[in-house]
Amino acid sequence: MGSVDAPKDYDVIIIGAGLSGINAAYRVQTELPDYSYTILEARDVIGGTWDLFRYPGIRSDSDLHTFGFPWRPWQHSKAIADGTSIRNYIRDSAEHFGIDKQIQFHHKLMSSDWSSNEQIPTSPISHLSKARPSIRNSGPETSITPTKKIIIIGSGATAVSLLPVLIEKASHVTMLQRSPSYFISIPSVDTTSDLIRKIFPSWIASRLIRWKFLILPFLFFTFCRHFPAMAKKGLRKRIQEDLPPSVPLDPHFNPSYYPWEQRLCICPDGDFFSALKTGKADIVTDTITSVTTTGITTQSGQHLDADIIITATGLKMQLGGGAPLTVDGEKVVLHDRFLWKNTMVEKVPNAAVIIGYTNASWTLGSDTAALLICRVLKFMRDHNISSAAPTLGLNPSEQNGSASTGDKTVQSGEWRGMKEMAVLNLSSTYVEKAKGILPKTGDKGPWRPRSNYFVDGWGAVFGDLTTGLRFVPASATGKANRVDKKSV
Ligand SMILES: Cc1cc2nc3c(=O)[nH]c(=O)nc-3n(C[C@H](O)[C@H](O)[C@H](O)COP(=O)(O)OP(=O)(O)OC[C@H]3O[C@@H](n4cnc5c(N)ncnc54)[C@H](O)[C@@H]3O)c2cc1C
Repeated sequence: MGSVDAPKDYDVIIIGAGLSGINAAYRVQTELPDYSYTILEARDVIGGTWDLFRYPGIRSDSDLHTFGFPWRPWQHSKAIADGTSIRNYIRDSAEHFGIDKQIQFHHKLMSSDWSSNEQIPTSPISHLSKARPSIRNSGPETSITPTKKIIIIGSGATAVSLLPVLIEKASHVTMLQRSPSYFISIPSVDTTSDLIRKIFPSWIASRLIRWKFLILPFLFFTFCRHFPAMAKKGLRKRIQEDLPPSVPLDPHFNPSYYPWEQRLCICPDGDFFSALKTGKADIVTDTITSVTTTGITTQSGQHLDADIIITATGLKMQLGGGAPLTVDGEKVVLHDRFLWKNTMVEKVPNAAVIIGYTNASWTLGSDTAALLICRVLKFMRDHNISSAAPTLGLNPSEQNGSASTGDKTVQSGEWRGMKEMAVLNLSSTYVEKAKGILPKTGDKGPWRPRSNYFVDGWGAVFGDLTTGLRFVPASATGKANRVDKKSV
């Protein structure tokens, strides 16, 4: 593994060739065709999450019409797709638009420092040897025989997609959960979409289908948030109808929270409930006290036999692979900083983070972020600005967006006393844990958290760009807007 300097001859450097990175690349190359860009990818493949995770049964729990890229409509009948199909779709999309040619594999961003004097980021990149194998979750598949008893620990999307696959391979599967989740069965093939495809030409059909999948889940989410008790009752009633008599609704399907305070578990064609009906799978709601040589002992005194224990818990979020960020050598502690319009970190010039939605398809949020970033870049180009940094407490003339605001900031003003809020508005364990590493949002102006795709999408395309951003004109620094006439 050798170290190389940051590539300095690109206008935009994108870190990661997952869904967000490929989408951002498409937006940069279409919105800013004269800009050069590269994608640095630590691994040797495109796809991020959808290549890394390989456990049996891996699939999306979002429909691919909105989880897929808006610029490359998902054409398959199945709206919920398996991991391999998603990985192939991301790779094919990148290849179709020539994005794959801009990726530098085996290049890992190790840290990034912004130099105010130079008006550029300096970013040490590790060049990982080509021989280095990519890290893959092989999953437990190979070691399972039909006589094995399996316990899956967890009650989230991973556990729910594993269970129907594992009962095909094991003698018995137990899903051991500490706290229950909400489940919803949906048909894997959407017949309305098929009908729409038959009636309309494909370019209209894909738009109509996408809008259907944008609007219906949004209405359902809004209903859950406004009428939580009714939503809880309705969901539990549906679960009761799907359950075999041997599995009681309580306590296994009685979450301590209301629907959409955490993600719902999607069961395509009710596969999870069908698995329970075979009698080869059950659910235990209890807390683990110890793991023994033969299984697991729980707080209520049960001993659950197991040959294999699978932990389907503990998902950890990370920004930029945890690469430390500094500005003029000073460390940026992300969770102390506010996010400007959910994309740019307070007092960090010319850098943006892309965080998708957790209460809708990730890609919807990641795309509004990418569009917003492209608009900021265009604004900077058109006004010959060499850097833009979110700053609290700019005075009114600066907030009103004069591009020639110089380099002074007033550390007071209307954002003072702003209430802190979380970036992600779910109470799931992985979201709670991520609070320690994610920047925060506020309750005012451009520091507010995301709203929804419709509002954020409008804001990305038409919203105000200047409030809360401190601009340094290229003329004030003697540096060009871009490195060699190009640099971001
Ligand atoms: C099992 C699983 C299922 C999911 N299902 C859904 C779903 O159905 N719907 C939904 O909306 N969301 C889902 N999510 C959330 C999911 O993570 C996102 O939807 C999406 O795939 C994230 O894409 P990304 O590009 O932002 O990040 P990633 O997919 O994590 O890609 C990041 C890429 O950046 C690279 N990278 C990281 N750090 C560096 C560095 N320092 N230098 C160079 N390269 C770097 C990584 O190698 C990786 O390729 C799921 C997550 C998991 C784990």
